[in-house]
Amino acid sequence: MNDCLFCKIISGDIDSDKVYEDQYVYAFNDINPQAPVHILIIPKKHIESIHDVSGSDKPYIDAVISAIQKIASDNGLDRDGYRIVTNHGKRAGQSVFHLHFHLLGGRDLQWPPG
Ligand code: 5GP
Ligand code: ZN
Repeated sequence: MNDCLFCKIISGDIDSDKVYEDQYVYAFNDINPQAPVHILIIPKKHIESIHDVSGSDKPYIDAVISAIQKIASDNGLDRDGYRIVTNHGKRAGQSVFHLHFHLLGGRDLQWPPG
């Protein structure tokens, strides 16, 4: 767990551009943004991906969803629309193995995604 980049961001050992934090959640700007708004929302518990969430993680998942709603509204995206992406595993391109939700907005988003 303690080789995890996002755990080090939560602990402050690695700097990040924080946009929101509470007891369960940390959120920060993606270092390589793919849209005018590109924020990563992560649980403050090391869970590898969405496929590893279990029932006892419910407080973290509930808090992540509340944080997504708040951050999206704070950025005016509740009106304009936004997308949430989470990647699991190799074929989806997951590169950091700490569950994270990409909040993307501020431009028209294409479908299907690449
Ligand atoms: P994934 O590819 O696993 O779904 O998403 C990982 C995301 O983390 C990528 O969008 C990447 O740009 C972002 N990222 C990787 N390293 C860092 C970092 O050190 N700081 C920040 N803020 N974002 C990072
Ligand atoms: Zn972690």
